[in-house]
Order: sequence, then C-alpha cells, then structure tokens
Amino acid sequence: MSNFRFKALEIAQSRHAMQVTAPTERVGDFFGSYTFNNEVMRALLSPEAYLKVTEAISTNGQIDRTIADEVAGAMKSWATSKGATHYTHWFQPLTGETAEKHDAFFDITLDGKAVEKFKGSALVQQEPDASSFPNGGLRNTFEARGYTGWDPSSPAFLMDNGAGGKTLCIPSVFISYTGEALDYKTPLLKALNALDKAATAVCQYFDRNITKVTPTLGPEQEYFVVDRALFYARPDLVLAGRTVFGHSPARGQQLEDHYFGSIPPRVNAFMVDFEFESMKLGMPVRTRHNEVAPGQFEVAPTFEEVNLAVDHNALLMDLMEKISEKHNLKVLFHEKPFAGVNGSGKHNNWSMGTNTGVNLLAPSTKPKESLRFLTFLVNVIKAVHDNADLLRASIASAGNEHRLGANEAPPAIVSIFLGESLTQALNDLEVKSEVTVNKGDNVYYKLGLNRIPSLMRDNTDRNRTSPFAFTGNKFEFRAVGSAANSASTMTVLNAIVADQLNKFKMDLDARLAKGEKKELAIVDILKEYYTNTKRILFEGNGYSDEWVEEADRRGLSNIKSSPEALGIFVKPESLALFERTGVMNHAEVESRYEIELEKYIKNVQIESRVMGDLAMNHIVSTALKYQNKLAETARNLVELGMNAEAEPIKAILREISTRVIAIKRNVESMVEARKKANNVIDTSDRAKLYSTEVKDHFDIIRYEVDKLEEVVDDEDWPLVKYRELLFIK
Ligand code: ADP
Ligand code: MG
Repeated sequence: MSNFRFKALEIAQSRHAMQVTAPTERVGDFFGSYTFNNEVMRALLSPEAYLKVTEAISTNGQIDRTIADEVAGAMKSWATSKGATHYTHWFQPLTGETAEKHDAFFDITLDGKAVEKFKGSALVQQEPDASSFPNGGLRNTFEARGYTGWDPSSPAFLMDNGAGGKTLCIPSVFISYTGEALDYKTPLLKALNALDKAATAVCQYFDRNITKVTPTLGPEQEYFVVDRALFYARPDLVLAGRTVFGHSPARGQQLEDHYFGSIPPRVNAFMVDFEFESMKLGMPVRTRHNEVAPGQFEVAPTFEEVNLAVDHNALLMDLMEKISEKHNLKVLFHEKPFAGVNGSGKHNNWSMGTNTGVNLLAPSTKPKESLRFLTFLVNVIKAVHDNADLLRASIASAGNEHRLGANEAPPAIVSIFLGESLTQALNDLEVKSEVTVNKGDNVYYKLGLNRIPSLMRDNTDRNRTSPFAFTGNKFEFRAVGSAANSASTMTVLNAIVADQLNKFKMDLDARLAKGEKKELAIVDILKEYYTNTKRILFEGNGYSDEWVEEADRRGLSNIKSSPEALGIFVKPESLALFERTGVMNHAEVESRYEIELEKYIKNVQIESRVMGDLAMNHIVSTALKYQNKLAETARNLVELGMNAEAEPIKAILREISTRVIAIKRNVESMVEARKKANNVIDTSDRAKLYSTEVKDHFDIIRYEVDKLEEVVDDEDWPLVKYRELLFIK
C-alpha cells in the first residue's frame, strides 16, 4: 500500500473538524464592518463629496475628479485604522477569475520618511500589468495598455491577506486606453443602465412616480467539497477542475435521502467560517445543505442590485477557495466534477425593482398593477424567445458543456416555465375577443384583468427541470454554470430585455398616435407578442427525451457545442443589438468572442493532456503490472495441472489486454487530433476541432479506463476513487 492514493486516504481519514469560533456579537454588529459603506462615507466625507459619490453610485457612473483626493484620503484612513497596509484595484478580467495587484499605502524614502502613495489619482485610475490579461486582439489593434478605474456602485472592502495584514480592495472596471471594455463589469454596467432607461420609460405608462428601475439578482451557488489531500492526489482535479476518470460509486445519488440534512462536521465548520467572513464583507449569505448529490452543497445570498450581486458572487467564490484550504478541504466550482453525479449550476434569480418599491415581476390583485405585471412578464418572454440563442451563448463554456447537452440531462434548449395559473391567465388574455369600451366602463373589468389570480409564490408549482423558470415574483435562469461569472449572462439578459422594452414602447406609441385607448392597445400588443412567442413555453419535464424531440418540432434551438453557441455573439443581429443598446461595440463583442474561444480551447486542451497522461502513466502501467501478477498466478495453476482453474484468470488477462490496446490507440489518435487542431489558424475552426475531433475521444478512453477500475485490484489502483472523493470528509 505504498501508492499516493493510500497516503492521501490516510491523511484524509485522520482529520477532524476545525474549531470555528462563532462571533459572539449579533450579525448587525459586524455585518459590512469590512466595507467602505454608506454609513462610513457619511461619517468621513464632507457633505459635498458624499453627495457626489452617492450620485455616482445611483447612476453607475464615475466620481468627479475634484473630490477624488478627499475620498481616497477617507478610504485610506478608514482602511489603515482597520489594519490595512496595502490597496488594490479589484477587477474581473475575461479570464473568469478576479485580479488584484497590491500596492502599499506608503513608501519609505531613502532618508527614512514615509511618503503617501494612495491619492485620488490612484483611486480613480491604475495601470495593472495588463500584458497577462486576455484582450482578444483589442489591445494589439488599438493600444498597448489598459487601466482600471473605481466603480463607486460597489463598495470598497478589506480582504485578509492571511498573514495578519489586510488589503483595501477597490472594485474597478478594466478598460483599454481607447475606451474598449477589457472586463466583465463594463458592459454589465451599460446593460443595467440600458434596462433602467427602457423599463422606466415603460413604467411611465402606468405610474408617473417611477423614475428608476433597478435589476436585481440573487445567485444560488452550487459547489462540491472534497478533502484537500484527496484533491491533490487527483491530477485531473488539480489541473482540469474535474475528474476525467472514475467509476460511479455503488452508493451514489440513489441514496440521496440519506444525506438530507446531515452536513459533515468539517464541511459545517467551513460553512460557518465563510459565512461569518462573508457577513463582514457585507454579503448577505445563507448557506444550506443541498440534498441533490453526495458532497454537493449550495450557498445563496439574499438578492441585491445586479452589479453588486455579481461582485459579491465573485468575491464569495474567492473567499470560499481560501477558507476551504484553511479547513483542509477543497471547493470545486466546476460544472461537472464527477460524471454520473449531478452537476453544479449558478441559478440566477432575476427581477426588476422600482424606486417606488415595486417588484415589476410580482403579480398583483389590483387590476391596474396586473396589466403592468403582464406587460413586463410578456416582454421578458418575448425577449427570451427572440434571443434564446444569445442567452445560450452567454452561458457557453468548456465546463458548462459537460453539463448542458452532454450525455446526461439537462439539454441545452432554452425554454420558459410559467406555472399553470399564469399560463392560464395568458391563454385567457389571448383568446379574449375584441373588447369595446364605452365611457364609464371599467376597462380592466372588461379585459378580465380583475380576474388574474394573485399567484403567490407557494402557488407556483415548482418545476426544477426548466432552464428559465418563473418562480412567483422573479425569473430563475438555471442553465448558468457554477463556475461562470454571472456578469456575462446578466449583460445579455438585461440587454435583450431593454431592447425588447424599447420595441414595446415604439409599438405602443404608434398605436397611441392613432388614438387607441392605452389599456386596450397594451393588451393587443401583449396578445400578439404572446401568440408569436409562446412556443418557448414548456411546463413538462425538461430532462426527458420527449422534450428534446418536441422542442425540435417547435423549431427551438438545442445548441450543444460551446464554439457553436459562442458564434451567436458575432452574428450581425447580435452585434446590432449590443450596439443599439449601447452595451458593446462590434470590436468589443468580437474580442470577447475570440477570448471565450481561446478559453474553451485551452480548457479542452488541458483536459485532453491530463487524460492522455493519466491514461498512459497511471492507468495503463498499473494495468500491465496487475496483468503480470495474474499471468504468474495463471502460470502457476497450469504448472500444477489446474488448467480449468486458470481459464477465468486468462479471461481477465485478455480483457485487460483488449482495454489497454484500446486506450493506447485512442490516446494516440487524440494526440494526433490535437496536433491537427493546433495547426489551424482560425480560432473558431480550431475550437470546433477541439469540440469534435479531440473531445470525441474522451468518452471512449474514459469508458475503457473505468472498466479497468472494476477489474484491477483495489490495492493497486492509483487514482482516488469516486466513493472516496465523495464520502470521505
Ligand atoms: P430556491 O432554492 O427554491 O430556488 P432560494 O430561496 O434558495 O430558492 O433562492 C432564491 C433566490 O432568489 C435568493 O437568492 C433570493 O434572494 C432571490 N430572490 C428573491 N426575490 C428576488 C428578486 N425580486 N430579484 C432577484 N432575486 C430574488
Ligand atoms: Mg433555485
């Protein structure tokens, strides 16, 4: 028992839960204590500066240079008083991770004097060492470098750097010198502004007091947890984030009841720890056990304004990675770390709130509000219907490809679930014949809008298999991958809804200009939209084969491959939409497309290399050694004249040989496929080759390796097995 696997198992099995000292204070006493929040700003800034900052916050804008020094000074004294020694612009480059570059607040000069380094200019603008961030050709074409700049709508925060010191993190955008977005945040802020403008304009038909609409997001984050030693004993987990081999455990999801409610003590300590740290950073998280797969859990925050929720999710993921290490655990955010076991998503719960405190997707019993609700509901349906492929593109990645449209459900079809009562309400609206309204008539009554049930949350039947489900007072986009930065999908969702609301306003204004009554005109437009888009509504089991066939009959897309899905971004109609809504110009979309393709290629390439190495160096060599042992046994039996007894052993020998040959042959042709792909210059063609000719080998190689796992002596098997990864912690 000298192999690495058994050493790791020994370590993992000997561990105990860490003691976490729960905060004695009440949550309210420490919540947000590590953030440069509104309260702190009000206390430390002059009234003038405070006003300017809050203004920038509410418009997703930049701060006035004239107050930058004052704000920087306040930030620095607040941060240093809390133990910070460094500051950094914290931003989200298109690599998908967050980036930081730490600078000290002070420098010591040669004669021993401390000079201040953090001034207003350092707050507003920084130059990261940008050469290492992807730009999809943008910087080569336009400018050599980019800069980061403070985004005041997301509060600065303090991050423990482990060694006792803290760093002031300043949430920032990352832009090239010619103004092109090099990050996730910049287009997101533009999409949010576009939605605000479009939705506010539509709200004006219903309520003059509505002057601002804020999209909201609550991302439910799913993840797996494995022991740290076991993690490092699996090169595929370390390098590719997922297991490329592994036979399903005998005791898998079929026993899910068993795990309901029982969090292993070590995982529980980890949760308590990161929950506490999240609260200090102003993140309203609620953790809980997820009963779907063994070793899988979920953390959900209370929803916030989208930009903040996206930052918080990225920060939360960072935090969880760091804190899991402290507990000798490893958190896996990959969409499909284990084949045959449920994958992980990031359910993006999304809605829109007004300055008057109304949730625009909350049904109401009041007829007038019902019409407003239906207006927003139907416009979202139409936006999703008309741009389903773009929405699909926004969640495309190498990781999510293993979860959407792969061997296991769910498929990559975008459909919407509304629930029975709401579908009924829309059907009623559709079949309603012409309504004539005379003076004094109650138009809402005549339209039947007084009869729309106030379908409350508990009422909405829960369909867990729908990728885009209405859940009572919000939509839940469930197809988003667990490892994704939500900004990508939120940029698209808010942009397409903004675009649709603009169209609706044009349609309505045209009718009003003809003298039509407003309420009737609205209902007519909604009816027409509904009729033309309702094929995207689906109430049944989204994971069934029947749905895949039915969706095909309905003409809905089912784009399985990521390169193909990403291609939607650069279609003329997509480019036009991003331009129209002011979210991204053509060059920005094209560079993003290029970067996503490169990321895809890199990920599949790593997976393929890991797979080849493991198959040849770990699996085949182990199988051959085991084969030797068996051969010796068989020979001994034959020598003893026990020919009949040797036969079953020879059969195993033959099986091993056949599988080893198949593995070797496929690894070789996979390497050839990679070589061929690498010689292709066009990124999109190269990505397509990776998604077909390279990736096609994965399942075949895996099948043979997993079969060998069943045959080879457990004592000799070099890779930590599924049952160990999933159950030991
Ligand atoms: P479930 O697991 O049943 O889907 P949860 O309550 O765990 O539901 O998660 C729902 C998520 O939706 C939470 O993050 C919640 O804050 C969020 N949410 C609730 N209302 C809204 C809203 N109006 N806009 C955006 N997100 C919302
Ligand atoms: Mg959910």
